[in-house]
Parts: sequence; structure tokens; C-alpha cells
Amino acid sequence: MTRFAWGAASDTGRVRQANEDSYLVVDGLFAVADGMGGHQAGEVASRLALETLHAEFTAAGTDVLVRAVENANDALVSRSTADPELAGMGTTLVAMALVDASGRDAIGVVNVGDSRLYLLSDGELAQITEDHSLVATMERQGRLTAAEAAVHPQRNILTRALGIDGTVLVDSWEILPIIGDRYLICSDGLFNEVDENRISATLRRLADPNEACRELIRLANEGGGRDNITCVVVDVIDDSGRDPNADPANRVRSSHTGGDLTVTDVPTTEPKPPKAPGAIRRSFTWRVGAFIAAFVFVILVGLAFIWWTGTKTWYVGVDGDNVAIFNGKPGGVLWIQPSLAEDSDLLLANVPAAALIDLENGVQQPSLKSARSYIDKLIEQNAKTATTTSTVTSSTTSSSTTTTIAQ
Ligand code: MN
Repeated sequence: MTRFAWGAASDTGRVRQANEDSYLVVDGLFAVADGMGGHQAGEVASRLALETLHAEFTAAGTDVLVRAVENANDALVSRSTADPELAGMGTTLVAMALVDASGRDAIGVVNVGDSRLYLLSDGELAQITEDHSLVATMERQGRLTAAEAAVHPQRNILTRALGIDGTVLVDSWEILPIIGDRYLICSDGLFNEVDENRISATLRRLADPNEACRELIRLANEGGGRDNITCVVVDVIDDSGRDPNADPANRVRSSHTGGDLTVTDVPTTEPKPPKAPGAIRRSFTWRVGAFIAAFVFVILVGLAFIWWTGTKTWYVGVDGDNVAIFNGKPGGVLWIQPSLAEDSDLLLANVPAAALIDLENGVQQPSLKSARSYIDKLIEQNAKTATTTSTVTSSTTSSSTTTTIAQ
């Protein structure tokens, strides 16, 4: 028989007037609900959800746990429809329970909303549940990093909650109970104020589950206490009811209503909702794929453009004492430096003064051919200037004037 030791604590925090979180700890069933709605409606929602869960749950299996959550949703919807004061109330719900899995003990986990269940195993903390929030969706789509999501102003917007709609999608998992494993169920008032490294360190340091809960709440208040904070810590102290042949390395299983189990590893666990399986996952994969393809395309076009301007362009410039044609852009493009394409016989000394500055900066040309004809023109000009200066003794200025007239 699998046995647990547990502790729990809840606190209003330092900003809110009321505590709308609720928790449930009875032997074999542990849950946290974070209610929302004006005029204490959130308090009603979270309490009603856990009362219904408690009343409907039997340890017969994870599917019973899922149905109990669906019934809690029904209870909330009828209550808020009946009472205008409670219209619009809703709640998150995350629960773990000892359930029967083909005659053996397992821990069934269900989740709707952005409260979380973590598993601390061999000193490693892993988030088992997946948040149903706007920022978590954006993070999965690659539109936000984990760090951005943690401080996003809209991180309290949920994509799923109980009491909002007649039907609700419930994520579920089945986990192999192993002695020494420690579970943490908490509301967002904890992990929004305390980073996971600190949560993990506290869970490792304090053996007593009640003490661990109190310390986590103290840390959350120290971090700001901007929301209600609730923690339930559950330790597995006996696992003799579990299947001795089960592989502890693949202990987290997402459960199907049909009974077939898909095995996944702890860090990469994916929920398999019993209804409309994988709808959100699929669009997530598709969008990320499209995003990566577009991103790679833009990068390739950019690189091609840089390569083209860096190598497939020409300019006339200076190489030592000579005028020369270069491949590339004057000064280079990023890491692509211009290279000498061909030297000409034209000496700098024979270049008209007006063109010298241009050459120092590099005179860009659309093709190698036009670069050559630019040099030919300079040679031609030089030849004419040489003729004029041999007959008329004058300054450089007047010689170029003569050249202009001669043209
Ligand atoms: Mn909250």
C-alpha cells in the first residue's frame, strides 16, 4: 500500500484583501484551486470545486479523477448561472490522488488552469503539469522566453479554467509512486514570487512537509506577496503497492480513458487530454515549424545579399602606385573584404587630380567591363592632358580646364 506524509499552508499575501485560494488534503487526495471573480466569488468557486472533487472522487482510477473534475466544472457552471452575484466566477484546479492502475497503485494527476504540480525526485525538481495560460501558450509557440513569460504583465490570463464553459478539457497523468519522491502542489502566488531554484532548494532542505510549506509562503511574501499563496507538499513514504516490475526511469505516464498507456520521460512529459487529443499541440508544432522555416529563409536571403554585395560588385581604386580594379565594396561588407581583381598600367601619378580623391574612396562600377572602361577613360584623359601640358606650360588647374575644352 502506498502511503503519504503531507503538509499544507495558505496565505492571503501582502496585497490582496481576501484569500480566494483553497486546498484539499485528505489521505490519498490532495488539491489546490485558485479562484477568480469579484465580490468573493473566487472564494466560492475554488471551495465549491474542491468540495465537488472530494465528493465525486473514488480511488478507482485516473479516469474517475478526471470525471470528478468535469463534475466540479458542471457544479460551478450551474451555481454561477443560478446566482447573478457569482456570474463569471471560475477557478483553476490541480489535484493528485492515489488511484488504482490495473490492480497496482499509481498517482493520478489532473490539471486545469495555471496552478502547478511539481515532482522533486533525486533532488531534481520537474514541473509535471502544463500551464493553461496565455503566456505559457506564447512560450510554447516560441514567442516568449521562459524569463519573459515569468514577468509578463498578462501572465494571469488563463486559457482554461473551471466554471467558464459547459465543457472543460482536463489534462491527466499517471505517475509511479516511489519512496522519497516529494510532490508540491501550488498556486501561482508561489512561483510568480519565488524562482524554481529556490523552491527546489527549500523542498530539499526542509524534511518536514508543513515546515517546507510555511517556508515557501514566507519566501513568496518576501518576494512581494502580490497574490494569494497556497502550497501542499506530499511525500511518498511507502510504495509497496506499486508494480514492482514498473520501470522507475519511465515513471510518468499520460493516461487515456481507453486504458492504453503511453510512456513518457519525466522532464518531457506531455499531457494527453482524453477529449480532442493533441489539438493544441498540433497547431503549436505547425506554427513553430512555419516560424523556423520563415526565420531560416530570411537569414539565407540576408546572407546571399551580403555575399552578393561583398563579392559580385566592383570598384576602381588604388593598389600601391597603380590604379586597379577590385572585387567587392570599398572597405568591405561585414567579414567579406574586397580582393584585387586586376591591376592596370595606369600610374597614380598620371591620374587627373580631380579623380584622385574618388579613387582613394573607390569608384563603384556595375561590372568588370564598366570598371575597365572607367580606367580607359582616365588613361585617355591623361594622354590628352600630357599633350596639352607639353605645348602649354600651366598649372594643374589650367591643364584640366584645357582638357575640358578639348573634349
Ligand atoms: Mn493566483
